[in-house]
Amino acid sequence: MDQEILKDVAIIGLGNMGLGMAKNLLSKGYRVSGFDLSEAARNSAMDAGVKILPVEELVAGRRILLLSLPKAEHVLACSYEIEKWGEKGLVVIDTSTSTPDVTREIYQRFIEKEMLFVDAPVSGGPKGALTGTMTMVVGADRWLFEALLPLLKAMSSTQVHVGKAGAGNIVKICNNLLIAAHLITTAEALSLATKAGVEPEAFLAGINKGSGRSAASEVNFPLWVLNGAFDSGFTMGLMRKDVGLAESLMEEMGMELPLSQEIIALWENSRTLLEDHADFNEIVKQSDSKIYG
Ligand code: NAD
Repeated sequence: MDQEILKDVAIIGLGNMGLGMAKNLLSKGYRVSGFDLSEAARNSAMDAGVKILPVEELVAGRRILLLSLPKAEHVLACSYEIEKWGEKGLVVIDTSTSTPDVTREIYQRFIEKEMLFVDAPVSGGPKGALTGTMTMVVGADRWLFEALLPLLKAMSSTQVHVGKAGAGNIVKICNNLLIAAHLITTAEALSLATKAGVEPEAFLAGINKGSGRSAASEVNFPLWVLNGAFDSGFTMGLMRKDVGLAESLMEEMGMELPLSQEIIALWENSRTLLEDHADFNEIVKQSDSKIYG
């Protein structure tokens, strides 16, 4: 793919992640235009140098479009707008955490118009988006993944091709089911260790050199939990959405996974304690609120 084409990028959804992606690409010499339903998000993006355009103008005649939208239903709704205005050769890279079904449905519809749809959900939070250090798990034909690599590498430090359209969402949903579990299991182990007389920092130092470590113990607890900051930029509402996606995938596959079901129930029941706008790390407060912040 012509490198100049990859340098002209539009983004629909300029929230916590989309705005960070836009700023990162601008800092690397990309031309970035975009749109968001929220006026506040549009203004912040404009201040950062993003050219704000209506969706029709963003899509018509364009080759590369990124999506960073909250849920699969938003991606689906947006896909009809894109289909209306998009032209042959358009490649849409969806970085939202969506569902494999929605991705495959859009992929099939777009193919008929000779447009392409790629699922490339991300990890690394707003900081990773801003610094181009996210991890992307990509569902696309191999040739397309390789053609898009220069752009993906500008946005992320790790790009993993995991299969065809929809595979990225499957891997991302399973990834988030694991971090949902690790936050709770690490909080419980920390409660146990501190009650038995070990300082929280010493506990983390120990397990982070041992086989019990995870991103929860290496990143979340030091950065957002032990200091009581709870300001990761990823909300309870979005994480409960992802845990719900894991539950739906398990049902669709006809699988009963007992520990995963317990984790899903704990996140669902957290609604009584934690509102959707709370930081997702606050789930640890269910274990023992005395040791956090
Ligand atoms: P966010 O709510 O901050 O941003 C989403 C933006 O999309 C909002 O500004 C909203 O106004 C806009 N929007 C919604 N529907 C729209 C439409 N039809 N057209 C234009 N704009 C629309 O969410 P976020 O934290 O940036 O997350 C975006 C996606 O990335 C989600 O799927 C989330 O699960 C995923 N994700 C987030 C994080 C994180 O740490 N925040 C990390 C990894 C993945």
